[in-house]
Amino acid sequence: MSAAIIDGKAFAEGLRARVAAEAAAFEAAAGRKAGLAVVLVGEDPASEVYVRSKGRQTLACGMASFEHKLPANASEDLLLGLIAQLNGDPAVDGILVQLPLPPHMEEARVIAAIDPDKDVDGFTVASAGRLATGLDGFVPCTPLGCLMLLKNQLGDLSGLDAVVVGRSNIVGKPMAQLLLRESCTVTIAHSRTRDLPAVVRRADIVIAAVGRAGMIKADWIKPGATVIDVGINRIPATDGGKMRLVGDVDFAGVSEVAGAITPVPGGVGPMTIAVLLRNTLLAAQRNAKVPVTEDALA
Ligand code: NAP
Repeated sequence: MSAAIIDGKAFAEGLRARVAAEAAAFEAAAGRKAGLAVVLVGEDPASEVYVRSKGRQTLACGMASFEHKLPANASEDLLLGLIAQLNGDPAVDGILVQLPLPPHMEEARVIAAIDPDKDVDGFTVASAGRLATGLDGFVPCTPLGCLMLLKNQLGDLSGLDAVVVGRSNIVGKPMAQLLLRESCTVTIAHSRTRDLPAVVRRADIVIAAVGRAGMIKADWIKPGATVIDVGINRIPATDGGKMRLVGDVDFAGVSEVAGAITPVPGGVGPMTIAVLLRNTLLAAQRNAKVPVTEDALA
């Protein structure tokens, strides 16, 4: 193997420690803790695990965690009422509505109800617009985590060719905007892209956000490129045992060619919640009008 392994778990631990230090300084300055409200509708087991983990990590960083659970058959009006209440609650700096929502709710309408100044997930149209137009706002946690790993690995990204495979609103599109903001030359590829291997082969930076196990192969990669694998795919273990997690990149092959690569698990995955906590602290600093310490949380 020639590629350097980008250790997202270690970077995320460091980021959480910096968030904890800044959260303590915030509490001293503002006389209250920064607070994150997480709303869960229904009993999806994976969502319950995520919400528990977010709550635990919020508390571990010295911030307040508010969990709100609604039954799967709750009306959309009830959820919108809860969001309105959280928008107006001065103890709540960040609001996250865990997705997916039950089918009788319209996700876009629910997300649109979140105050953009508390939209720590960066999913509102206002946040997407702020990112696209270069205004201060919140950026979705997973792509921002990818950018942090890239800058930590490569330093200045300007002028580099970046190919983002995937164009979802929560990963691919904001990732492309972030890379553009760093002055990369950005290509967004998707399921209709012609000759995807040739497109990827041009890239100094490859972001894989597709959801197809091991799709990106070694002979698609320019030697020395940096490869960020966002994919999380569960596949049966080769020995017939438990399911295992793999990314969208054929790790064994690509790590022979790339300059640096994120593993799955232990790469991008751990960054998401760490960035959520970072965004919540920045929201608190902005809401309480105390100095914003964005540089310390880069
Ligand atoms: P998504 O909404 O399903 O989007 C997938 C994208 O991949 C779409 O834009 C699709 O193109 C494209 N695509 C599908 N098949 C393709 C192909 N054969 N060639 C080229 N492009 C193809 O997925 P997502 O929410 O962005 O998530 C992507 C992956 O990241 C998933 O594995 C997900 O589990 C993972 N993820 C991880 C984290 C984390 O680490 N914390 C967070 C979020 C997501 P079209 O638009 O043309 O259909």
